[in-house]
This record gives sequence, C-alpha cells and structure tokens, in this order.
Amino acid sequence: MGELPPYFSVTQLTTYLGCPRKYLFRYVERRVAERRSAELALGSAVHSAIEWWMGERLQGREPTDEAVARLFRVDWHAQVAADEYDFEDKTPEAYKAVGEQLVALFVTRFRSEPPMRSEERFEVFVSDPRSGEPLPVPFIGIFDLVGDDSVGEIKTAAKKNGLDTYALQLSAYQYAHRQLTGRPARFRVIQLVKTKTPRIEVEEAEVGATDEDWFAEVAVAAYRSVSSGVAFHPNPSWMCGRCEFWGACRRAA
Ligand code: SF4
Repeated sequence: MGELPPYFSVTQLTTYLGCPRKYLFRYVERRVAERRSAELALGSAVHSAIEWWMGERLQGREPTDEAVARLFRVDWHAQVAADEYDFEDKTPEAYKAVGEQLVALFVTRFRSEPPMRSEERFEVFVSDPRSGEPLPVPFIGIFDLVGDDSVGEIKTAAKKNGLDTYALQLSAYQYAHRQLTGRPARFRVIQLVKTKTPRIEVEEAEVGATDEDWFAEVAVAAYRSVSSGVAFHPNPSWMCGRCEFWGACRRAA
C-alpha cells in the first residue's frame, strides 16, 4: 500500500464512503484515471469565471457580460486542451454553450448583491466529538463564496438536488467556519442546473451544531478505518458505470 494523503477533504471522505477501493486507487496508490468526465472541466471553467467576476467587483470594477463570457471560453478551451475528456454523447461546443449560459445566469442573479470573496482555502483540525482527540492530519477545503458570516456553495448539477445531497459538505464547512471564526455561518447553496434550458436555484441551508458533530463523527470513523488499511473493498453500485477506475477494478479481482 502507498502512503495515505497528508490531509483529508470532503471529496476524499465521500469517495471513501462511496467506494473504499476507488479511494485506494485515487488517493493512496495515486493511479492515473482511465477517463475524465467533461463535467469536471465544465465545473472548473464555470467556477473560474465566477471567481474572476467576483474578484473584479471586489476591486470596484464591473465587467460586462461579454467579458465574463470571454473569460469562461478562454478557461474552457485551456481545460479541454490540457487533458483528454470524455464528452459522452455531447460535443465540446454543446458543453461550452451550457457553461456560458450558467455563468450568465449566475451573473444576472448576483449582480445586485455585494461581491463576496471567492475560492477561499481553509485548513482546520477535526476532533473526535466524544474524546476531544484531534485527528493527526488537517482537514482542508475551499469556500466557494465568503461574506460576513455567510458562505455560498456553488454546484453545477444535471438536475436540481435536495439539500440533503450536500449535507455532509455543508456540515463539514460549518465545522470549519466555526473553528476559524468562533461563529456559525449562514449557508446558501447555489445550484447551476444543466437542464435543457439551464437555470439557477438558490436556497438557504440550515446547518447547526448537531450537524457539525455528525460530520466530526463520520470523519473520525472514516479516518480510523482508512488508517487501519484493511477496508479497501470494492463497493459495486450505480456509480461503477462512471468510475474512472472501472477497468483497474475488474483487473484487481
Ligand atoms: S468500479 Fe465500482 S466498485 Fe470498482 S472502484 Fe469503481 S466504484 Fe468502486
């Protein structure tokens, strides 16, 4: 077995909980993925355009819609030129058109609100809620949007999801926010939905101390399980069809 990562994140945690073998391949053995979904490139280019737009506004500038769209296109082309992506049954142009619409929806929705800081990295230590003992590695993450005691999480999604879909991440980020500031944050989940006619859905999410304790319990239990090195079994599910290690998983049998 290779070395465990020197930190953990929500993505690592959900990967491990979803399939321990995928976690092993991705984070311990650090294997090269057999496929990369174009959804990743799309989400990344959308986030970059929003980050740039918010940054400009924090500097007192107000970029035009076309400037934001151009920034998105530049980032999109850079993403798809740097790596091979799986576009499934769509064309790169179709992805690009959807991405432009999502960015425009976001800008239209938030233009009347004060700008927020974006892509803010954090690092905290998570402690066992029962014993108080901290994990030996830090928990890291990135707040998509940060204001005065408010956090916005941006999701690009194929359909509108219930807030439960994001419960673990929201609980984790509330835990981190309280560690960093001593106060809870107000959370908003901003879903950029890639339906035939793309749309934006913005919802307030209530995340309390019980949720934070739940996250800490899940994180500590999962970390102990990972550290023991004995529980990297496959977990076959509907997610296997999109797994980037599908072939490796079959060969490992
Ligand atoms: S193919 Fe399925 S069981 Fe195998 S690693 Fe991927 S998600 Fe896990």
